[in-house]
Amino acid sequence: MERQQILDLYQWAPGICFRHPVKGETATIHVETVRPAGGGLQDVRACVDCALAMEERRKAAAERGGVAYKPGMLGGPDPADQP
Ligand SMILES: [Zn+2]
Repeated sequence: MERQQILDLYQWAPGICFRHPVKGETATIHVETVRPAGGGLQDVRACVDCALAMEERRKAAAERGGVAYKPGMLGGPDPADQP
């Protein structure tokens, strides 16, 4: 699967990558929402490089587990949207 095809599966928005805060605001996807001990909700966002790296890991894990790899599933449902 082409890099751009994978990237097209996601909604991109300006944000700060959780692994590359030094980059500052860049194109990111929403990966998960965590609930810090201090309360509230915090968005975890990933830049292009990190999104592709995570997809690579998911692909490798799927192949090891003998299951079909389906890109575009990073993040999943947002817990903040749940009732
Ligand atoms: Zn990153």
